[in-house]
Amino acid sequence: MAVGIKMKITIIYDNKVVRPGLRADHGYACLVEAESTPAILFDTGARGSILKHNMAALGVDPGSIGTVVISHRHSDHTGGLSDVIKASKDVEVFLPESIMTGIAARRVTRVRGPLEISPGVYSTGELSGIEQSLVLAAGKGLVVLVGCAHSGLDNILRVASGFGEVWGVIGGFHGFQDFHLLDSLSLICPCHCTVYREEIVRLCGERYRKCGVGTVIEL
Ligand SMILES: [Zn+2]
Ligand SMILES: [Zn+2]
Repeated sequence: MAVGIKMKITIIYDNKVVRPGLRADHGYACLVEAESTPAILFDTGARGSILKHNMAALGVDPGSIGTVVISHRHSDHTGGLSDVIKASKDVEVFLPESIMTGIAARRVTRVRGPLEISPGVYSTGELSGIEQSLVLAAGKGLVVLVGCAHSGLDNILRVASGFGEVWGVIGGFHGFQDFHLLDSLSLICPCHCTVYREEIVRLCGERYRKCGVGTVIEL
């Protein structure tokens, strides 16, 4: 696989914000920008109006998005999808196979097993019949991007380690409590639905990265 590609992650939609002028709401979306490939939007938040507001405030042009990856079918991750498709007509959408609803995009790929989405960006494939996560072969190492981790962060990390040694994880950890699985990671950024955030902050020290709309992580 391609490794060592410089990437930038920007949190666009989250339950928290890190600075004024951005809107918090229950949901999740982040932008993945990699060298010389169109931007990838991972999830689309709950409401298109908030997604668009935060994009504008963060200087993200919806028309620059080439690909949307939806982690799973819940509305706090899919709510802004139709607005993104309206703004960027040729966008390619990657959905877990279990999403059966009609999507108005011209190019839709239903994801079952692992696949390469763009250079250095891989889907784990749909896990536990609900959710796909991304594995980024970024400059600093392999970084796992998760939506809500409904398939279990322990399970996702195990599958991701099949791509190579995992360096970091960003996204919603849900009720994840197997904290020892984070010991070997250098970047831990719990977002959105993470229940045990305080414990993770305490355990991870310098390796913890605060998540909210406006968080930018260079990888
Ligand atoms: Zn969910
Ligand atoms: Zn969620």
